[in-house]
Amino acid sequence: MTNFLLLIATVLIGYAFVLVFKPTKQKNLKLLLAFSGAFLLSITVFNFLPEVFTNNNNKTIGLFIMAGILLQIILEFFSKGAEHGHVHLSKNSSAFPWLLFISLSIHSVLEGIPIEAHDNLIYGIIIHKLPVAIILSAFFLASELSRIKILFFLTLFALMTPLGVLLSQETNIFKIYYTEISALVIGIFLHISTIILFETSEGHKFNLTKLIVIVVAITIAYFL
Ligand SMILES: [Zn+2]
Ligand SMILES: [Zn+2]
Repeated sequence: MTNFLLLIATVLIGYAFVLVFKPTKQKNLKLLLAFSGAFLLSITVFNFLPEVFTNNNNKTIGLFIMAGILLQIILEFFSKGAEHGHVHLSKNSSAFPWLLFISLSIHSVLEGIPIEAHDNLIYGIIIHKLPVAIILSAFFLASELSRIKILFFLTLFALMTPLGVLLSQETNIFKIYYTEISALVIGIFLHISTIILFETSEGHKFNLTKLIVIVVAITIAYFL
């Protein structure tokens, strides 16, 4: 139950943050993104990844991880990278962005499935969701989309990961293929978190603040 509320609250906080502060500093958002990427990657590597491997399934699990990476690459053809924190839609469109919405939903439902069984994963997902919610909200508020459409989109976005949690609790198929789905989600996380770290460094310039932010994220995840 706490997990449900935390996940929904994250999106609301992101939306409220944009309404109140109207963030304009791309630089600070980039640091938040870098933190979220390093944190999600660390949680995945420290906690999540070792748990799916048992002695006799290694190669199959590896295959599902690679499939997750591939799936995320395909989803990003449609979402244009919204899962890792930037939006490339035409700003003047007032049509509801269905492709973005569907691919983001598939991503969000999937990442909800392993939450209950992996202790610190919820924190990784929340930290990853917050900048995404901020960036999506800022983009939509600046677009020509009506407030109703924005609210509809963000509400459904907020509910997708909790839906994944619910599916993992209530449906048998997700219980039977739990390890495989977890491996798929690991692939998704490996892809988005490394993309975030890659994209937040402009031209591979040395950036001390960013480096510190990344080290802090890794350290926190390690001691969690
Ligand atoms: Zn991107
Ligand atoms: Zn996600």
